[in-house]
Amino acid sequence: MGGTFDPIHDGHLSLARDAKKELSLDAVLFIPAGCPYLKRSRLVADPADRYEMTALAIQDEPDFYISDIEVRREGNTYTADTLEELHGIYPGNHWFFLTGADSYSIMDKWVRPDRIFELSTVVCTARDDIDRDELEILRERYTREYGGESIILNMPQIDLSSTAIREMTAKGESTRGLLPETVRRYIDERNLYRP
Ligand code: ATP
Ligand code: MG
Repeated sequence: MGGTFDPIHDGHLSLARDAKKELSLDAVLFIPAGCPYLKRSRLVADPADRYEMTALAIQDEPDFYISDIEVRREGNTYTADTLEELHGIYPGNHWFFLTGADSYSIMDKWVRPDRIFELSTVVCTARDDIDRDELEILRERYTREYGGESIILNMPQIDLSSTAIREMTAKGESTRGLLPETVRRYIDERNLYRP
């Protein structure tokens, strides 16, 4: 599961837990993005902070792991490169790439989507009230254009985003219950997302 994780929150963790259960995955690997090129236009917290927050969030979760392959990479990070690297490190693994519907619906704008679909089974979960029929149509189009396959999971939507958490933090509002306490404390101590 890739993400900016700026910061990681309960929406990310639910997605990972639900997908793991639904698809009987052995493990979930969280990969904080180094320099997410689709987010060039806004300030993103330091990769080291986003990595640390992700590590804190999953420390007590069995079968959840974190990788630094993207935060260590120079320049823009692309999922296609990451999947190529993962296949090199763990030959023989089958990879599922976990996404929310907002990401899934713009995957044709990502770099080398054909490679992403070739190297993983893309998994899409509900988000932003994106219509399920629309996602099914998209799924068929992706398979036609890029090959490979993807899966649309049927699970409840969780209305939560890092953007909302950053905004609430900036306004001094409590974010209790929206992300792990360890991450909340880290944000507090490091004074992240404050104006
Ligand atoms: P931002 O608001 O900064 O874009 P975000 O909450 O969307 O942050 P990202 O790090 O951009 O988090 O997302 C990483 C992945 O997790 C994406 O595939 C995104 O769709 C998915 N995701 C994030 N939040 C949720 C959620 N609440 N439900 C389902 N998927 C989610
Ligand atoms: Mg996002």
